[in-house]
Amino acid sequence: MTAAAPSPRCRACVRSSGGPIRCKCSRPRGTEAGVRSRGWLKIQDGCDEHCTFCATTLARGANRSRPIPELVAEARALSEHHAELVLTGVHIGTYGRDRGSGLGTWDSEVPTRAPNPEPRGPSLGRLLEALIAAVPRVRFRLSSIEATEVDDAIARLLIGAPRQLAAHLHAPLQSGSNRVLKRMGRHWYTADAYRARVEWLAARLPVFGLGADVIAGFPGETAADHRATLALIEALPFTYLHVFPYSARPGTAAMRLGEEVPARAVRDRASELRLLGDAKKEAYREKRKGQTGDGVVSGHAAGRLELLTEDYLSVYLPTAAWDGRARCEVTVD
Ligand code: SF4
Repeated sequence: MTAAAPSPRCRACVRSSGGPIRCKCSRPRGTEAGVRSRGWLKIQDGCDEHCTFCATTLARGANRSRPIPELVAEARALSEHHAELVLTGVHIGTYGRDRGSGLGTWDSEVPTRAPNPEPRGPSLGRLLEALIAAVPRVRFRLSSIEATEVDDAIARLLIGAPRQLAAHLHAPLQSGSNRVLKRMGRHWYTADAYRARVEWLAARLPVFGLGADVIAGFPGETAADHRATLALIEALPFTYLHVFPYSARPGTAAMRLGEEVPARAVRDRASELRLLGDAKKEAYREKRKGQTGDGVVSGHAAGRLELLTEDYLSVYLPTAAWDGRARCEVTVD
């Protein structure tokens, strides 16, 4: 991977300061050792859902959102040291619902209706608007969000403010079969609703990093259900997948569902999904080759810097070629 040429202003700065690490063109700067310019902002904890495979709700309790003014103040402080802030939590798409916002009006029974009206009151979209207004020089990124919880306010920012909100969604899919989604307790979307929201966004984003979690071999999953998942993944513009062969977690409702899938079939289905995920990842990388990206330094090892683009591609640079900026244009190769 190669970095695009530094801006003229940056070259001048390098010349006048006598060394690339002292470049003053862009704050914040990395440091020569332990470079990492991404920070994390935890916006909520807990989850009100009860997916049958998940032990998180048992351990973390109900949705609790932090107040917007407190998060804005923390983001301001973090922005002194980080060029990118990742919004984290257990179920961030429900941010604000415990603070008086109505449930989103997304209706999974109307799968072709892609626009997703905003909820009333505090919401993730409103939080993002406040954060971006307060610290516009930072790039925010959503850690993981349900596709059908990307409301119109979030979509507007993804499309209209690419420097402030990274064009990347990690949207758990889990299964492409409505029958399996129902058994998983994931009642708030169908495969068609997921597909409609992703396709609507993909048609409007010139670059779009899209990842998903998928579970292979959930209890009761048939060969036809598995094929439905493969077909949905094939049809959507995923750029990577996280595939989990199903394994029972103590205390979860899925343990009582019965109809366990034989271990061999679980393994085979997981490998098939991984192969498909790898192929889609390679195809996306190939498509992006030679194009520029908005890189933020994310790590430093063995004489190389890792920068992460808005669409979640890693680009590497020799440390010696680095001009000290925590964020710069890179070329994907
Ligand atoms: S999988 Fe996610 S949405 Fe479902 S219960 Fe666990 S944390 Fe909540």
